[in-house]
Amino acid sequence: MTTSDTPRLLALRAALVETLRRKGIRDPAVLDAIGRVPRHAFLESGLEDRAYEDIALPIDEDQTISQPYTVAYQTELLGAKPKDRVLEIGTGSGYQAAILHAMGVQVFSIERHPRLYEQARRRLESMGCGAILRLGDGSLGWPQWAPYDAILVTAASPDLPKPLIEQLAPGGRLVVPVGDLESQRMVRATRRPDNELEIEYFDHFRFVPLVGRSGWQAADLEDH
Ligand code: SAH
Repeated sequence: MTTSDTPRLLALRAALVETLRRKGIRDPAVLDAIGRVPRHAFLESGLEDRAYEDIALPIDEDQTISQPYTVAYQTELLGAKPKDRVLEIGTGSGYQAAILHAMGVQVFSIERHPRLYEQARRRLESMGCGAILRLGDGSLGWPQWAPYDAILVTAASPDLPKPLIEQLAPGGRLVVPVGDLESQRMVRATRRPDNELEIEYFDHFRFVPLVGRSGWQAADLEDH
């Protein structure tokens, strides 16, 4: 793994930002963060060359680093501002956490696979990224640091995980792909200041499953 940029990688990353802009990503803070975080540093060395293609790529444990468009899409929906407290479920490679950190957000992130957790922890630390990581079942949230201004789930959930809704601050947003294992609809649930939940539906995506108490049970996945 290398975090060092070369003129070629910088040019490819700038081109990726343009691609995302063309695909409809508007938030300057999101585009700026994608332009600054070295995605190649989150991939195995054989894949570094493909880091700035707008595609999902494999990481360990049969998981994926999301497509840059998906990262930008979810981050834009989250509407996080500098200093906000944001909880991410599904640290994976750590790339999404690094994007949020680059936006000045206070990042908390949970991963269920020990190996991915350990790799992301070391990687983010070596990059000077101060995201606070934890190994565990993120479908239950992280009550210790709640409430959150925003919660982002980067894995497919069968429905809105209740513990996450409960950990939203007034005005807080939960962005989560909800559906079956084949396809999910991006959902944003906003806890209004009067405590009512406002639900909005966006585009379809395909994520790896959220496996946990408030997600899919391991037994649900046996046929997949
Ligand atoms: N955000 C990641 C993409 C991760 S893919 C990135 O930027 O690279 C989804 C991740 O969610 C996988 O690493 C998977 O292991 C993790 N995951 C699935 N269910 C989980 C759960 N209940 N709690 C925490 N992590 C979970």
